[in-house]
Amino acid sequence: MLIIRPMHKFFLDEISTWHQETEDQGVRQCRYVVVSEIDNGLLLWNTLTLGLVWINNLSVKDWTDNHLDSNLISLLRSQWFYVPVFFNEPLFLKHLLCQYKKVQAKRTKYTILTTLYCNANCAYCYERHGDFIRKSMTDSIAHKVAKFVNDTRKGNKIKLEWIGGEPLLNPNAIDLICGDLRNYGINFESSLVSNGLLLNEDLINQALNRWNLKSIQITIDGTEKVYNDTKNYSGDIANPFNNILNNIAEIFKANIYLSIRLNLSYTNVHDLERLIWLLIKSFPDKSQYLIYVSLLEQEMHCDNQEKLRQNLSNWIYLNKILSDEGFIQWPLDSNWPINKCIADNENCHVISPVGNLYRCEEISATDVVGHIDTGITNSKKVAKWKITNKTCECDDCLINPVCLNLLNCPADLECNSLTKSIDICKRIFAMKAEYCKFKNNQVV
Ligand code: SF4
Ligand code: SF4
Repeated sequence: MLIIRPMHKFFLDEISTWHQETEDQGVRQCRYVVVSEIDNGLLLWNTLTLGLVWINNLSVKDWTDNHLDSNLISLLRSQWFYVPVFFNEPLFLKHLLCQYKKVQAKRTKYTILTTLYCNANCAYCYERHGDFIRKSMTDSIAHKVAKFVNDTRKGNKIKLEWIGGEPLLNPNAIDLICGDLRNYGINFESSLVSNGLLLNEDLINQALNRWNLKSIQITIDGTEKVYNDTKNYSGDIANPFNNILNNIAEIFKANIYLSIRLNLSYTNVHDLERLIWLLIKSFPDKSQYLIYVSLLEQEMHCDNQEKLRQNLSNWIYLNKILSDEGFIQWPLDSNWPINKCIADNENCHVISPVGNLYRCEEISATDVVGHIDTGITNSKKVAKWKITNKTCECDDCLINPVCLNLLNCPADLECNSLTKSIDICKRIFAMKAEYCKFKNNQVV
């Protein structure tokens, strides 16, 4: 047995003080183990201990049929892949998460919408169907945002995230906020979610020098014709797809990390495959960026099982290409999630162009929880964003310890066969990537 990643120290500390039902009265397999075959052996990842091991000459079938010899079982028992028969994993998990919450470092993040206007007109955008009035942040609100950040940051180093609409339609607000934060002596860095069309050399220099911009996320919907049709940019732009490719080159020159999101629908898998190869050929240095494929929300939640299966198979197909090409889309979880996102983390705030406060970045008029002038005034609505949609069925799910979904997250909705399979597949890609990294380091 090769230990690729040892059990988490926090698990070991907590289990050593957990006397309930851990005496060996016979053993059985732990219910939180993800398995996958590689190199004529089996990778096993325990989502409760976060430990990863590889065993030579073992198959998924051997594991599933529980056909393991007693020496191997005792080795696996020492790593908690086998547990005492009466060990109650869900109960211990509750205890573990509760303790882990107490020692977790706090992060303070401000997600700031500089404008709700956008230069693109994507049919799938939730903001096109939203219930808000489009506005851009004024100078006076921008100064107040900086003051709000200064008043609420609790001394922590802070992260700012610029979103919109298209946030780069209002770079002035970003300049003002960053300028004020510098005057307050605040240490900050920022990231940007943009369609990337306006990210030319001048703006990138401005972002580097004034905004401490470290990373950018853009979405590319397909190859040239598909992209230009989908984005349907306002104004007279000859070929936006070419502009995007040129801007990506500028981003790399500036050494800013880039995540490229590809939106997968039921019909565009072949076009995205062409796009992936075009990107890899145009930008061979993979240390500078990441490509990841995301199914559009409407494709994740439908009643048609055949369609869900096809979507899953398309998603796996594209991710396999990316994984084989060396893009590690999702590192294997090295911690248990205490917060799902900014929405259930009280140290994070979402600020709209008029200074309203929200919990979720997908803002909606009914979800205002306060204003930068007053702070949070509706704690009932804040509490709503902490409710998880996990059910008792999760107790037996392989990835329960590392899964956290929110009842009101517009992207989570209900866990179904597709979303669950995707979450497990992501872990399998990550287990394999960690195994390969381990092996490569051993060879060196
Ligand atoms: S929400 Fe779904 S994926 Fe998450 S633990 Fe529950 S059953 Fe598993
Ligand atoms: S959409 Fe979901 S994941 Fe994103 S901020 Fe809102 S609640 Fe969190």
